[in-house]
Amino acid sequence: MSRGFNFSAGPAILPEIVLQQAQEELLEWGDCGASVMEVSHRSKAFIRMAEEAEQDFRSLLGIDDRYAVLFVQGGATLQFAMVPMNLRRSGCSADYVITGSWGKKAYGQAQNLGPARIAAISEESGFHDIPDPQLWALDNRASYVHITPNETIAGVEYHQWPETGDVPLVGDFSSTLLSRPLDVSRFGLFYAGAQKNIGPAGLTMVVIKKELLENTTENLPDMLSYSALAGSGSMLNTPPTFAWYLAGLVFKWLVSEGGVAEMDSRSSRKAELLYNAIDRSDFYYNPVAESARSRMNIPFTLANATLDSTFLEQAESEGLLALKGHRSVGGIRASLYNAMPVEGAEALVAFMQNFEKKMG
Ligand code: PMP
Repeated sequence: MSRGFNFSAGPAILPEIVLQQAQEELLEWGDCGASVMEVSHRSKAFIRMAEEAEQDFRSLLGIDDRYAVLFVQGGATLQFAMVPMNLRRSGCSADYVITGSWGKKAYGQAQNLGPARIAAISEESGFHDIPDPQLWALDNRASYVHITPNETIAGVEYHQWPETGDVPLVGDFSSTLLSRPLDVSRFGLFYAGAQKNIGPAGLTMVVIKKELLENTTENLPDMLSYSALAGSGSMLNTPPTFAWYLAGLVFKWLVSEGGVAEMDSRSSRKAELLYNAIDRSDFYYNPVAESARSRMNIPFTLANATLDSTFLEQAESEGLLALKGHRSVGGIRASLYNAMPVEGAEALVAFMQNFEKKMG
């Protein structure tokens, strides 16, 4: 089988040109005489690459020196625990706005470790909307407010940021980082597992305002401490070197393609193609409130759920891969990360229209 259009939610599609470059230099990286996977993370060549990756990431998102950028392990899931471990001040709680399964998991971890509150939750609507920020029950003494800018399973995305006053906003950007420009100054901390819009699994990006490093809890194990990680340039131990290198190639690809402004307009085009196809038909349905629809993960159902498996099989035979909805909700889900070309969305829409003609 040749490479298809891969709609996987994660690990997800990577830019083909990046994979080709990695393939070309897999055996001999630069003038190292060895693969990037075979050299020390303390070697000059690796450090130069790691610093460049950080610089490119900073320039893509406009992250200035007031923020530290960390390349860590443990996935976004470890951040569910590290955020409260590091940022929750003694005697204070933390606020969570839950708009889907991932936010709920983040809250669960915080609650295991100490006091945490739900400031708003959209579970009653089936996680198909974002509660109006005016109605959030925020605690102005909270250590932070945690949101999930894009919920990957139900396909719910913030398109503007809430006001949280002096309380730092924390965001789990796993499935949307780098898909549009970001006003970084609105956040105290944000994080993203790499395996959707950044690179291979095994790497997590964390961006934290340096002033928050100062009040992070003492006596944490170094590997769980933002200040220890920042103090070591994310090299307390051997980092995930190959994932870091590949993320660096993706950042260079993004810069060469026109950066996040270009990704923003491509994301809008791709999502519009798909939502239009869904909305124009009685055969396909997306339940998310229009104002909260995700441009990255678009779940939809067929009028007749018994056709799901036929839809998936036929799509796959036409090279449209990994469209199965998350196991917790079923149906179909198309993820349209940066590396998905507009032609991928067009091919999916053409397939959906044909399928409806045959089966509808
Ligand atoms: N948050 C979001 C929004 C996600 O989509 C995911 C993974 N799908 C996670 C957290 C968990 O990420 P990880 O597997 O990197 O721990």
